[in-house]
Amino acid sequence: MSPRTVQGARWSCQGTGFCCRFHQLGPVSAAEVQAIASTRPEAWWPAAAEGWLLSRSGPGGLVHELRKVDGHCVFLSEDNRCAVHARFGAQAKPGFCQLYPYQVVEDAQGVAVIVRDSCAGRLAEAERAAPMEEQAEEALALARAHEGVLRWSPEAVSILPGRAEPWALWMEVEAELLQALQTSTDGAGSVIPALRERLAARLGLDLPPPDPARARLAGRAVLLALDMTLSRARQQEQAPSPEEAEFAAELHQRVRLAAAAMEAGVALDGPEGWERYARLCLAEGLLGKDLHRLDGLFAGLGLALITLHIAHASAQPGTPAALARVHARVARFTQNRSIREVLRAAAPALRDLALHAPV
Ligand code: SF4
Repeated sequence: MSPRTVQGARWSCQGTGFCCRFHQLGPVSAAEVQAIASTRPEAWWPAAAEGWLLSRSGPGGLVHELRKVDGHCVFLSEDNRCAVHARFGAQAKPGFCQLYPYQVVEDAQGVAVIVRDSCAGRLAEAERAAPMEEQAEEALALARAHEGVLRWSPEAVSILPGRAEPWALWMEVEAELLQALQTSTDGAGSVIPALRERLAARLGLDLPPPDPARARLAGRAVLLALDMTLSRARQQEQAPSPEEAEFAAELHQRVRLAAAAMEAGVALDGPEGWERYARLCLAEGLLGKDLHRLDGLFAGLGLALITLHIAHASAQPGTPAALARVHARVARFTQNRSIREVLRAAAPALRDLALHAPV
């Protein structure tokens, strides 16, 4: 059976080099370390002369990562190209580099392939980008070759605190929600209310009527928690490099702009194409199981909403592709380990946001 993809999803590399910046560059397997080491990178890449690998003890033995210089991989060149790729070909890169930005998940229905939300290439130049269904087999082969298939088979799927559903039922509901997201042409403002209604009807949930004031309060609480965390981190100068400090400052500014805009509610509407992008994000979040990573489905929906809101509120008005580039940066920021902890603690507010946002 062919891997499932979100209808209408496309991707092409934009060559920004963002995938090689501001995040953990690993794990690199022992075999991959050996393969790169055998080329003697210090002889052909000057930055590698001061070291190209970081190794630490983990529960299962040594964990290896590529060293970062100024916030980016030691092998990233000034023109945002990978030096390993340029010299030895794509297959010489570590598996996680080859697989990015694909995310491959195996669930009870088979295999699904999505594009990670920290890559803006899924919308930019969409017309010239290849449909995901044409790329899915290659992504699956890469994931299998590099042990990159995420297996998802929980006994029950958490929807709200104290409310979980058997996964078999959830898979049916997920298929219905995906169908609705992929075929809807309604304005983005109706996306969350429509999803909420379907969930309530399908799962027999007794949800409160949406309360926009409560949604704004919840959104402000999440943004305030992020603002305070970033203020503290920046005061303590925790960033390991000036480039990472600059990235933190940029995100701090975006969070503050989003807080100022929250009075008007969470905005998913935007230039033509942005609504489609927002629906695509939610559909890929569902199919790739990202919406389940935080603390139940509604908290995941809340996180997807606040991420889209920060991008929308802080980007200069522009094309959907420009907004998507900002969204990719915000998404990367929300995956930072300490920011993830803040978001986990803010799960009740994120749930409130998804439960009450009229959007
Ligand atoms: S090895 Fe190449 S593709 Fe992988 S993170 Fe470094 S520069 Fe990027």
